[in-house]
Amino acid sequence: MIKIIETLGVANKSLASESRDSVESETLLKATKIEKNFGNTPVLKGISLTANRGDIITLIGSSGSGKSTFLRCLNLLEQPDGGELEVHGQKIGFKNTRHGRAPENDRHVQWMRSRVAMVFQNFNLWAHMTLLENIVEAPIHVLGVSKSKAYEHAHSLLERVGLAERSEHYPSQLSGGQQQRGAIARALAMNPDVMLFDEPTSALDPELVGDVLRVIRSLKEEGRTMILVTHEMQFAEDVSTKIMYLNQGKVEEVGTPSQIFGHPSSARLRQFLSTR
Ligand code: ADP
Ligand code: MG
Repeated sequence: MIKIIETLGVANKSLASESRDSVESETLLKATKIEKNFGNTPVLKGISLTANRGDIITLIGSSGSGKSTFLRCLNLLEQPDGGELEVHGQKIGFKNTRHGRAPENDRHVQWMRSRVAMVFQNFNLWAHMTLLENIVEAPIHVLGVSKSKAYEHAHSLLERVGLAERSEHYPSQLSGGQQQRGAIARALAMNPDVMLFDEPTSALDPELVGDVLRVIRSLKEEGRTMILVTHEMQFAEDVSTKIMYLNQGKVEEVGTPSQIFGHPSSARLRQFLSTR
């Protein structure tokens, strides 16, 4: 990891940004006017977001409003067609290619993915690996962590998400809730700056939702920075520092949970909330 960071010339910057006086409002992820088109259809029409350390930003909005696409642009699972991205003070450069806009440097993509971890609705654990193997894979092969350190860390993460007894299980031998907690442990193993969650509980049976939400809440308590898409409105209201309401690829309204849920100003947002 250090090697990748040095290659990018950001080592000093990261170190400097950890100095005491800058910690309070340290910006970990900044997206400016992100645009994305699928074919000729604009799906994101200039969405901006700044996540400072400890922020929990929740995106709400009806199906098709662009929440998943925006999250995927934030860790370059989708290439934005316009706008800027900055992670931990490091700007991601883009170039125009025959196939459209693409990141200037593949190392930026790898670095970005290791700093900004995604937890998906359908868990996406690798089916042919045990839970433990799922967790140590990227730390060993992407970050270059030693096997013994990676396994030690993985065991402590599994304990933390309540899966210490399941480390040798394959995903198919686990419930959805266990798989999702495993996926969260896998994301944590990279010690990311920012965690993205795309409807992490939507695919779960109702009785399994609580355990996953409890793990996410515990991440808030340790000061993790998260960007969350969820339909669990009560949870969003409880944990978020900021709520963004997306409508048709634009931010229609943004505010604190009490502003958004207590005093929504846009008629569309009021309509959206009334159907919840
Ligand atoms: P949300 O997560 O808010 O439900 P999405 O970001 O999934 O919304 O989708 C936003 C819009 O983009 C929708 O109209 C969807 O059909 C379209 N879309 C999403 N992914 C693709 C894709 N890979 N190709 C074409 N259209 C897509
Ligand atoms: Mg979605």
